[in-house]
Amino acid sequence: MKAVRFFGTNDVRIVNDLEKPSPKGDEVLLKIGGAGVCHSDLHIIDEGIVSGVTFTLGHENAGWIEEIGDDVKGFKKGDAVLVYGPWGCGHCKPCQHSNENYCDHQSEMAYGGGLGLNGGMAEYMLVPSSRLLVPIHDLDPVVAAPLTDAALTPYSAIKRSLPKLMPDEYVVVIGVGGLGHVALQILSEMCSSAIIACDITQERLDFAKKLGAAHVVNSMDKDAAEQIRNITGIKKAKVVIDFVGASSTIDLGTKIVGLDGDLTIVGLGGGKYEYNMNVLPFGVSMTNPYWGSRTELMEVIGLALQKKIKIEIQKFKLDEAVEVYDKLRKGQIKGRAVLVP
Ligand code: NAD
Ligand code: ZN
Repeated sequence: MKAVRFFGTNDVRIVNDLEKPSPKGDEVLLKIGGAGVCHSDLHIIDEGIVSGVTFTLGHENAGWIEEIGDDVKGFKKGDAVLVYGPWGCGHCKPCQHSNENYCDHQSEMAYGGGLGLNGGMAEYMLVPSSRLLVPIHDLDPVVAAPLTDAALTPYSAIKRSLPKLMPDEYVVVIGVGGLGHVALQILSEMCSSAIIACDITQERLDFAKKLGAAHVVNSMDKDAAEQIRNITGIKKAKVVIDFVGASSTIDLGTKIVGLDGDLTIVGLGGGKYEYNMNVLPFGVSMTNPYWGSRTELMEVIGLALQKKIKIEIQKFKLDEAVEVYDKLRKGQIKGRAVLVP
């Protein structure tokens, strides 16, 4: 079968001769409908954050069940499902709570399919346990694939700040890409705080306005922090969610977050932060959340089924993967690219 394989830093190739796996025990073989193209893949491909292994890329996967192992219960051929991406041990306390993203054994294992183990940028994908599948009912797997990360990750990050997102507060979203454009929609649905969006091009700022941002600021402007403080007034933003994670955006976040606020860094942009008590207001919680839980993925599917969130997708063929990564690198993908076998 055809697959997009990672062979090492800066080495991604399409192969046509990978063997179609067959499921045993609790394993499930999925016929892939769509595999989302996440910026995290670029951190793998360009920066080598996963090394020493060859695997099929793609950690945002959806499709139809093709074949089940003998021990699988509750699923049958043809069911449309999402693959929950962060694969934990399945047994520790966080995993029992469905927080496999914070599995006690994370440091001993690959992060999941497409992140060290074979992922979904292929015609078929072997999922190691039926526990990792979530039914999507009548959603189209091509459109639904990015829900597993581009929607789940911001959803989980926003949920932990919900008690602070009151109608008289401001929330800032930095980076209106694959994750950020869904974050704006989730915020619009789940809270009444005024939304300020930051990106680096006018096109993305206009996009943000369509998705619920009341104000937009170009974060490349030298006075970006001042512009945001002019909007919020003296109290500054209650919550800042940074979907870039570069030193410059973390620095911006520290200047615009208010007392007792949340500064949430989702982006894996390799930024450095040096604590400065004269800049960071008292009471700020700085967090770096990772992905979300399985039950939160069910909640995200609920939002999509009710048409409260809509991921802007651009479809491409598996053969185009290398070009698509290049477009993503150059900031030329609006919303999310999805590879369709
Ligand atoms: P993307 O490439 O689709 O979007 C990035 C957006 O940020 C683009 O719109 C770009 O123009 C904008 N941007 C770049 N530099 C900026 C700056 N200085 N100020 C404001 N905006 C800027 O990326 P994505 O797929 O949405 O991923 C975003 C980040 O989140 C990546 O680093 C990715 O690895 C990370 N990520 C983290 C998790 C997690 O669980 N923590 C999960 C998925 C992705
Ligand atoms: Zn675990």
